[in-house]
Amino acid sequence: MDFAFTDTHTMIRETARKFADERIAPGTIERDEKEEFPAAIVKELGELGFMGMMVPEEWGGSGLDTTSYVLALEEISRVDASVGVIMSVNNSLVCYGVNRDGTKEQKEKYLRPLAAGKMLGAFALSEPEAGSDASNQHTVAARDGEHYVLNGTKNWITNGSTADVVLVMAATDRTKGPKGISTFIVEKGTPGFSVAKRERKLGIRSSDTVSLSFQDCRVPAANRIGAEGEGFRFAMRTLEGGRIGIAAQALGIAQACLDASVRYARERKAFDRPIAELQAIQFKIADMATNIGASRMLMLKAAALKDRGEQFGAEAAMAKLFASRTAVESALEAIQIHGGYGYVREYLVERYLRDAKITEIYEGTSEIQRIVIARSLLK
Ligand SMILES: Cc1cc2nc3c(=O)[nH]c(=O)nc-3n(C[C@H](O)[C@H](O)[C@H](O)COP(=O)(O)OP(=O)(O)OC[C@H]3O[C@@H](n4cnc5c(N)ncnc54)[C@H](O)[C@@H]3O)c2cc1C
Repeated sequence: MDFAFTDTHTMIRETARKFADERIAPGTIERDEKEEFPAAIVKELGELGFMGMMVPEEWGGSGLDTTSYVLALEEISRVDASVGVIMSVNNSLVCYGVNRDGTKEQKEKYLRPLAAGKMLGAFALSEPEAGSDASNQHTVAARDGEHYVLNGTKNWITNGSTADVVLVMAATDRTKGPKGISTFIVEKGTPGFSVAKRERKLGIRSSDTVSLSFQDCRVPAANRIGAEGEGFRFAMRTLEGGRIGIAAQALGIAQACLDASVRYARERKAFDRPIAELQAIQFKIADMATNIGASRMLMLKAAALKDRGEQFGAEAAMAKLFASRTAVESALEAIQIHGGYGYVREYLVERYLRDAKITEIYEGTSEIQRIVIARSLLK
């Protein structure tokens, strides 16, 4: 497999790096402390073409490949993983799904503004009793003429209170289990649709995570994506692509840990010499760099398979599984290298640990990734 980057890949990565360093970095610590949504930055990401990177130009997107997308997402997440997840949900979970399975009318009305960053999207699959067991949907959508009436609760929805549109999975026939679930595009402001609770989180604190409530919420039948009963498959296929994005987010955090550790090890002296000269520190840095390199290869392989139209589900799961563990381990080691300074807020590495942990949980926990990988081998 050829991992040589094209000029476009290099240009995208450099643009993302510059934007992250110049525009995102200055307010990152404050936003994390205040749990403040980066609205101005999200708007600028849209103007840069980073909110609909893989959407064809005919629908208002940037028409780029998955490799370009993950390179950009890694750079953004290296500086601020909260911004990373906002970008990832809009690109991987919302635009990708609507572009793949939406009607022409849905693409005109929703995909075009979503891809241009003029609308923000959210993806609502999880519920109080449907996380890993995502087919256990209690939210129901009952057909009523040219509408569906939605009732239920969605949990932990990223971008949930800021989004203009939410892709909602709901049971249209509970007797059919996973085959009785459908997907709907629900607009903000639809009567009966409200934000129920804002979550206060360990990490990615300036991203918006809420539970959503649907009470007799009438959604036009024209807003159903695909046929009735195809919603679970829609969600699973969409999440396959999303996992490559979460691998990129995790990789960005891990790379930030490595960069901070190298910098600090050169500066910090103990026993009259830089700690970089101590083999104990060198080994930590070597292991971190090796795991980061392996994560990057797995991520780029999954992205390349996806772009070639080949099966990529197991590779996406491997990339997410390995990169998310690498992010957590790198953050722990970065704190260790920083000693006491690693434990306090003045230095960035304590946030890296808080931000890294979620990459092992959302879009399928690490246990679920192992199930996906094992299934692909044992089927
Ligand atoms: C900050 C944040 C943002 C999120 N954003 C979104 C979003 O935008 N949209 C959305 O739909 N969801 C979102 N989620 C939900 C997330 O995807 C779920 O939390 C995740 O899938 C796990 O589900 P759960 O929390 O119900 O845990 P559970 O499914 O209850 O799992 C609990 C534990 O049991 C393990 N487990 C469960 N089943 C198995 C099994 N079969 N084999 C082995 N181990 C198993 C899990 O791995 C985990 O360790 C978000 C969550 C968070 C915290």
